[in-house]
Amino acid sequence: MYKGTGASPGIALGKALVVEHNELIIERKNIENVEEEVTLLQKAVEVSREELTRVKEKACQELGEHEAEIFEAHLLVLADPELIDSAIAKIRDEKINAAFALNEIKEMFVTMFESMDNEYMRERAADIKDVTNRVLRHILGVKVVDLAGLDEEVVLIAHDLTPSDTATMNKKMVLGFLTDIGGRTSHTAIMARTLEIAAVVGLTDITSKVKDGDFIVFNGDTGEVIVNPDEETKVKYQELKTKFEEERKALELLKGKASITLDGRHVELAGNIGSPNDVEGLIKNDAEGVGLYRTEFLYMDKEDDFPSEEEQYEAYKAVLEGMNGKPIVIRTLDIGGDKELPYFQMDHEMNPFLGYRAIRLCLDRTDIFKTQLRALYRASVHGKLRIMFPMISSLEELLAAKEVIKEVLAEMDAEGIPYANDVEVGMMIEIPSSAIITDILAKHVDFFSIGTNDLIQYTCAVDRMNQKISHLYNQFNPAVLRLIKMTIDNAHKEGKWVGMCGESAGDKRMIPILLGFGLDEFSMSPISILPARKFITSVNHEDMKKFADEVLTMGTAEEIKNHVDKTFNM
Ligand code: PEP
Ligand code: MG
Repeated sequence: MYKGTGASPGIALGKALVVEHNELIIERKNIENVEEEVTLLQKAVEVSREELTRVKEKACQELGEHEAEIFEAHLLVLADPELIDSAIAKIRDEKINAAFALNEIKEMFVTMFESMDNEYMRERAADIKDVTNRVLRHILGVKVVDLAGLDEEVVLIAHDLTPSDTATMNKKMVLGFLTDIGGRTSHTAIMARTLEIAAVVGLTDITSKVKDGDFIVFNGDTGEVIVNPDEETKVKYQELKTKFEEERKALELLKGKASITLDGRHVELAGNIGSPNDVEGLIKNDAEGVGLYRTEFLYMDKEDDFPSEEEQYEAYKAVLEGMNGKPIVIRTLDIGGDKELPYFQMDHEMNPFLGYRAIRLCLDRTDIFKTQLRALYRASVHGKLRIMFPMISSLEELLAAKEVIKEVLAEMDAEGIPYANDVEVGMMIEIPSSAIITDILAKHVDFFSIGTNDLIQYTCAVDRMNQKISHLYNQFNPAVLRLIKMTIDNAHKEGKWVGMCGESAGDKRMIPILLGFGLDEFSMSPISILPARKFITSVNHEDMKKFADEVLTMGTAEEIKNHVDKTFNM
């Protein structure tokens, strides 16, 4: 048995598919029989064409025509004689191997397209890269795992999954993910919960332990994974799966109910999302709003330039409209740290998590920041928008960010562009220096949202991505809990509300404490909403307050966790 971090609940049983992201190694070779190389190239093109046609049809049927457009674009590239004929000519002229010739031609076209002024043409560079890499893999005999074209149910095994893997894969066929790296707050884990796919992360070297076709059973809650189990174990996991599914069904009864304790304390249960596509999951799980829309995915999904104001406006509008007037907290760009953009060169830094990122970058590059703020305010007329700044570490930064909003609104006024007058502006509390001055900051915002993923990291000086020290990364750390309590008390004194959008908000062991502290809004992976409502509607707020007070007297995370487990039978 292997043990990793349970990242997304659910029980999975199925065949393994190992996803590799191998770098293609392409060497120049002199060739005698050039016609053999030409045939090799032509065959690889043919196989790629068939593959893409299949994937396109499947995407069209299951995801709609819009989603299938990308594959159509790839087919067009493949049909372009300039590309393939140039590669063939190069093989013959220089008497070299097909892979090297095609790669050279690819580089030439990509450089040419990337330097064009026209955004549409620049985007074609990415298509050329994708398609030629597909052909190159066939020439080199490197396994191509086509996640969009999956046509049987599998458990994906990967070192890590990229946002584009999770965005394009055929989700209906994915029973679960297992990855070598990552923790509960890594983006693959967050994505798995958003997609409601069971997952275990941080398994260290599962990719080298599992082969394609091995039978896997795992528990996305406990992090237990068994490869090629005996019959008895399979039956046990099948029973666990049935029980899990029955429990989820029972939760359906809570849909449409208010999240209110037995003694009448009402809280808001919202969802965290990364794209307008996630609205479906919010509605399915009866979210009362969005507590965190991580806009960086909109930027990360682009290959060669920042998303335009128009593209951003459309995405924000889609979420605001999709949620029918429920409040939507959209966070401004939080890039840097572990999140990079392919088209934006960042200097190498010794400590990227402490470096040039998020609001720091936005206040430096106000051109990027202003485009996003304009898109946000333009979208504000389509619903109930709340704007939130990430990574604020001082009052100066908060005031500077608000100043940029003022400038943007003045420009929009001058241009006669309408926007809503009741947009709330808030900030994340994820850096201790902010948490400590929440009494002052509260006077300048409409709300706070506590980002425990980073607050734990910065309070305890523990890199949230580092497997080796993950035992030190603990949400029950008394220092973290005190900062949370202080933030809530300080905001309430100023009559402001406080949410939490870090992963702790949806954690069944943290909810009793947070409820007792007086948290007003809990924002979590949509899949955690109904279990949270079940708990909240079954307890008294007064009891939770007493319980939280007891917790605050305790000195270690271990003691606190045990106290939760004992009190609530977890
Ligand atoms: C957080 O830090 O808690 C948070 C919600 O932001 P992210 O996980 O995107 O850093
Ligand atoms: Mg954060």
